[in-house]
Amino acid sequence: MDLVTRADEIAANLDAVRRRIAAACDAAGRAGDDVRLVVVTKFFPASDVRILAGLGVTDVGENRHQEAAAKAAECADLDVRWHFVGGLQSNKAAAVASYADVVESVDRAKLVPGLSRGAHERSHEIDVLLQVSLDPPGREGRAGADPDELDALAAAVETAGGLRLRGLMAVAPLGEDPAAAFARLARIRAQFLESRPCADVLSAGMSGDLEHAIRHGATHVRVGSAVLGPRPRIK
Ligand SMILES: *Cc1c(COP(=O)(O)O)cnc(C)c1O
Repeated sequence: MDLVTRADEIAANLDAVRRRIAAACDAAGRAGDDVRLVVVTKFFPASDVRILAGLGVTDVGENRHQEAAAKAAECADLDVRWHFVGGLQSNKAAAVASYADVVESVDRAKLVPGLSRGAHERSHEIDVLLQVSLDPPGREGRAGADPDELDALAAAVETAGGLRLRGLMAVAPLGEDPAAAFARLARIRAQFLESRPCADVLSAGMSGDLEHAIRHGATHVRVGSAVLGPRPRIK
């Protein structure tokens, strides 16, 4: 695709998303700089990351290790923070920690030793978010920890070296009103903050539901298609 056209397209989409975030903050009585935008670049090329960085995007997200590793390497000269937001296998955890600045999808203690080892090998602290499931228990393909598992998981992250527990992440379940799901998330988070007041990041909200997430306290929204366009169904 013509690079000038692509840059213009991304700039226009980014502007629209930034306006949505600002309007949602305003409607929620929150400061406009309260919410950070993470642009999810999965399926899109490193050249798009480069365009985004040129437009002031500071945070990008990826959900598959191989693709993320390659893209982060291609963009090593850019000043962007890499967020890993996808399902994570424990045998890949150390490798993900070799390029990710934030791992948002920590949902079981088994991932912690690998992440910690990767952080040590790199001599770089990794920010960690615990992914909490908003799905009903037993739902197929459920990702995320149960709310009542968060305390033990947080303790595992805190006692491992090289990891900094920063907060929670969640995805609204398919087929449920996101407002209801994020209201539930806000209650889970309030309880979590009672014992860990500094872990106050809340990553929630995507292209279709970021307004609901901001209303319910999101500090980070993860937006893909609204900025970069529709993803191909298969790569
Ligand atoms: C792909 C993805 C997003 C972005 O989704 P859009 O609907 O394209 O904004 C956000 N979070 C996670 C975990 C994702 O995998």
